[in-house]
Amino acid sequence: MQASDVIFRSGDARFGVHIPRSVIETLLRICADSGRVETGGILIGEYNSAHDMAEIRHASPPPGDSSRGGTWFRRGVKGLQQWLGQLWRKRQYYVGEWHFHPQASPAPSSRDSIQMRDIARMLQYHCPEPILLMVGGGPFIWRISSYVYFQDGSNALLGEVTFSLEAAPTSV
Ligand SMILES: [Zn+2]
Repeated sequence: MQASDVIFRSGDARFGVHIPRSVIETLLRICADSGRVETGGILIGEYNSAHDMAEIRHASPPPGDSSRGGTWFRRGVKGLQQWLGQLWRKRQYYVGEWHFHPQASPAPSSRDSIQMRDIARMLQYHCPEPILLMVGGGPFIWRISSYVYFQDGSNALLGEVTFSLEAAPTSV
């Protein structure tokens, strides 16, 4: 799978997100395995000292108590608290969510945006301005976009990128 690092920045360059190739590959693998069913998980990372760039370190698989269908997904929580506790000691924190829309555009639905606003208000996440990474498309053309949700309920698109992955070579 040929992915590469992605850096998105807001139009005014005040905020950005860096998604390393390893995280892109993890996401696309989980989404490919999910087929035509939505999926998602949480994003772990850290902010730089200027607090204007989020470095994504890990994307979780969907927790075992998640529920999902062709056009909906409800992320569960099983195991996340323990994982977040372990990573906290390494100064890595919850920074947001990722979410997959199979064979559709990587744009959040109104329900997705409501969930992000709820997360921004939930003190237990300690994340007032969470990032949403959307994956759309598959299985060969993938689009990844990223949004940041602000405390006033608005959001901003940070950027969008397309990955075109070649089909596995057929045996002769
Ligand atoms: Zn959705």
